Amino acid sequence: MKAVVALETGPPEVMRWTDVAPPAVAPDECLVQVEACGACMHEVLVRRGDRKEGAGFPIIPGHEVVGVIVEVGAEVTGFAAGDRVVSNQRQRVCGKCRECRMGRETRCPRKVFLGDIGLNGGYAELVAVSDGSLVKVPPGITSPHVAIASCAIGTQLNALRDVAHLELGETVLVTGAGGGVGLHAIQLAKVSGARVIAQTTSEEKVEAVRAAGADEIVLTARGQDYAKDVLAVTDGRGCDVVLENVGAVSFPSAVATLALHGRLVLVGEVQKTPPTVAANLNGWRARDITIRSAASTTRRQLEDVLTLVERGLVTPVVTATLPMSQAPEAHRILENGQATGRILLVPDAS
Ligand SMILES: [Zn+2]
Ligand SMILES: [Zn+2]
Repeated sequence: MKAVVALETGPPEVMRWTDVAPPAVAPDECLVQVEACGACMHEVLVRRGDRKEGAGFPIIPGHEVVGVIVEVGAEVTGFAAGDRVVSNQRQRVCGKCRECRMGRETRCPRKVFLGDIGLNGGYAELVAVSDGSLVKVPPGITSPHVAIASCAIGTQLNALRDVAHLELGETVLVTGAGGGVGLHAIQLAKVSGARVIAQTTSEEKVEAVRAAGADEIVLTARGQDYAKDVLAVTDGRGCDVVLENVGAVSFPSAVATLALHGRLVLVGEVQKTPPTVAANLNGWRARDITIRSAASTTRRQLEDVLTLVERGLVTPVVTATLPMSQAPEAHRILENGQATGRILLVPDAS
């Protein structure tokens, strides 16, 4: 098969579209013919060697797959050849540990992230994924854009619904609103009946942020404090929920926008060694605030995202589709922060 292979860490050019043996299919795995794979900042960090957990090179990157099953392992019961499926970021979770049994599979200590280890990943014509990390795509969804359902949408559903417990009528701040995850957070918060304030540092992304449904847009220079701007559009009250998609550079402002009883969910922090942030503990205590974090998506959350997409309530935002041989270009766009929405890679025509 053809695949994008990176033999070692380095610049985007270390990724080459080349011939490689198809992955072996374990008894609990399905072999998926890839229709499209999302390009995610995760792969940029892996490729650069900047990811905390490290990776096992050589690799085929990619974990946001949509495709059709062409072969199933002997132990697979819930899927058959011909099923159209979307991957849930991981090649496998154990399904047996305490975290998995509590529905917290995102924190399974034995999980294997798809595309981080060895020559099996989504930037390829074929990929092997365990049945515990696949979900069938409902027949009402035909677009390949659904590839990003888990990473770009499911993570935000996890944060808003299951971690922040967003309630009807509350006010939500989405930071980094113009990025691939932020645009989906805006849509989910609107569907949930929230008033949405979107913070972005990019003038070029304002239109997309507005189109996603933001009620208010706060445009500030990168690294500049935006708390007073957010407080100004909430009559000084602040926000009930803050989705913090940026990290340390934004965190102090994000906390300062929290209303009484507000909940902040930290989703993004892309720096390997982020700077330490100062905390005004009296300010925190006086407002009864909650600081939590959320990462990735459970299978149930992914199923719920697909239901929302099928009903037309949430739309995956994909702004560019490139052939896999141009994976280096896709990574350059991600590294430069130019992408409004997500980038999809599709196998080159053979
Ligand atoms: Zn991703
Ligand atoms: Zn587990």
